[in-house]
Amino acid sequence: MKCVFCDIVQKTAKAEILFEDEKIISFLDINPFNVGHSLVIPKTHYENFLEVPSDIFGEMFVVVQQLTKGVVTGLNADGYNILSNNGRAAGQSVFHCHFHIIPRFTTDGYKFKMDLKKYGNGEMNMIAEKIKSAIPF
Ligand code: 5GP
Ligand code: ZN
Repeated sequence: MKCVFCDIVQKTAKAEILFEDEKIISFLDINPFNVGHSLVIPKTHYENFLEVPSDIFGEMFVVVQQLTKGVVTGLNADGYNILSNNGRAAGQSVFHCHFHIIPRFTTDGYKFKMDLKKYGNGEMNMIAEKIKSAIPF
């Protein structure tokens, strides 16, 4: 299956690489929300967050934190968003697990706000129970 991020890992597609080690690679997003918008991915192809083994995920999150320090300090950002879209319904467009690091500036005008819903009577507890009973550990 063709995957543009695997091509970047293999160096058959160009990318502005920021960091790379044995398991993880980070590079600039080609269509940034703000300049400096970066992506962190495992070098192995996993379609989404839930498929990434926890040892690789642990290393990936260390890189996400270090990269965020670089982005924020290097670009003098006022804030940052760290996010991961998983599944078409959530807006994922490249099906190779990745985290976005988006530098934010007080002047950038983005809202990143969704419509907020309200819980009905007793619904909050019911939803919490559904989630708790499905947590694997
Ligand atoms: P998603 O929509 O899956 O959360 O994020 C995929 C991201 O990958 C998008 O922000 C998109 O701009 C970025 N992207 C897609 N193709 C390429 C590419 O060929 N090179 C780079 N550097 N980024 C890409
Ligand atoms: Zn891939």
